[in-house]
Amino acid sequence: MRTPSGIDCPHFYGDYFRGRSIEECRLLKAAGQTWSPDLCKTCPVPGIARANACEHLQLKPVIGRPLSAMFMRRVQISAYCAKTRRNVKEPHIGCGECHPLPPIFDTSS
Ligand code: SF4
Repeated sequence: MRTPSGIDCPHFYGDYFRGRSIEECRLLKAAGQTWSPDLCKTCPVPGIARANACEHLQLKPVIGRPLSAMFMRRVQISAYCAKTRRNVKEPHIGCGECHPLPPIFDTSS
């Protein structure tokens, strides 16, 4: 569903039927965090969802105030793979278990 920032996000819910105006972020709600519409502007989740549709990827959001953002509230994401049971450094890419990158993208050597 489209967020107040105009970006599609699988975790946004809006109910505008018959004059209702209910909006919430179900990802933040499930994590016990308080959502406000401004958070969607800088949230990395829609980009992660577009880049990585792995069913095993679990996103854990935290609302922080990074120094680089001059203390504005921002959604910060950590990711976990439920299949390999390990943290995922790059949620846009994934852990590499189900969808390994071709060797041409390997930068470790
Ligand atoms: S805060 Fe992030 S995860 Fe929540 S609805 Fe907005 S864009 Fe989606």
